[in-house]
Amino acid sequence: MPHVVECNIDLAAKGRQLGRLRVPSDKRTGYATVVPIACIANGTGPTVLVSGGNHGDEYEGQLAALRLVREIDPARVSGRIIVVPVISMAASRAGTRTWPTGENFNRSFPGDPDGPPIEQLAHFFTTVLFPAADVVIDMHSSGFAGWIPACSHMCVAPDKKQRQLMLDAMQAWNSDFHFLYTSDGNYLPNEAERQGKIVVTTELGGTTRIPVAVQEIAWSGLNNVLRHVGVLEGKVETRASLGLPPAKLIDCRYQVRQDGVVVKGLYDNIVAPVTGLFEVMVEPGSAVQAGQVLGRVWQADDPAVPPADVIAPSSGYLMGIRTRPPVIKGEGLAMVGGEISREALLAE
Ligand SMILES: [Zn+2]
Repeated sequence: MPHVVECNIDLAAKGRQLGRLRVPSDKRTGYATVVPIACIANGTGPTVLVSGGNHGDEYEGQLAALRLVREIDPARVSGRIIVVPVISMAASRAGTRTWPTGENFNRSFPGDPDGPPIEQLAHFFTTVLFPAADVVIDMHSSGFAGWIPACSHMCVAPDKKQRQLMLDAMQAWNSDFHFLYTSDGNYLPNEAERQGKIVVTTELGGTTRIPVAVQEIAWSGLNNVLRHVGVLEGKVETRASLGLPPAKLIDCRYQVRQDGVVVKGLYDNIVAPVTGLFEVMVEPGSAVQAGQVLGRVWQADDPAVPPADVIAPSSGYLMGIRTRPPVIKGEGLAMVGGEISREALLAE
């Protein structure tokens, strides 16, 4: 069956090629979706797929991927680096997490060649790009409404060998934290993981300002993972070689909320107790104790009402926080996870 998404570069050719993917015109809009793609190949070695802009308002990874396309000299590559720097230009331009249709690319896997454009593009990743790759790096951040300390993360693969390879690659980002998360199975990394790939994903800050230090972690981490997996020449750095203390590995998988609801979403274990304006009282990345007040929600329409506290349900580290103050009762506001050792994770 022919792939409905066209790619105008030869992914088997050597050197640096810049091109585009073209998703056929949408019945609703009549416009085709065009997605820039680059391939940098030389010699023999692994194939790494690097993507940014899975969510449009997560710019740190898009910037690092765009820089990668320009700055990596093919002579330094052993194998192939395929880069899709901005998966949705429309969402990136609009500053939205989702596509203009409201659909979420990271919930569109494995995709469908007969579905809407977003599923056709997901299907192209599933059937062309993932099978070509040994390693898949998909860069996210917390988007315009949240903040997560710049870090790499992963779902926990059932296969122990794959899990260890993913853990090693994730840790090669050399961020202060790494964390584990659960998903519904229809995310981009889920499909790549099902195909046996070494999958590394990130959360690189968020909100509307990108601190220079965060962009530096996006760039240095990405480059070090590429060196770690052997596709890019150069010394592989470790936290120790950089003079840094060991990273903390945090478990943010399935959580049981205070009301007994089991949740999978990154922010959904701590929700807004009321509608109002959320004041953050603990910096992301801080150690917190069960019962600690993380912030409070003020009732903007009635200053006489005392603010409602937002409480940490368990001890651990505050790994994510909502940064945009207007919140609606029940919305996810924060994520707390406990530390887990590398040995314990590999023994599961
Ligand atoms: Zn994202």
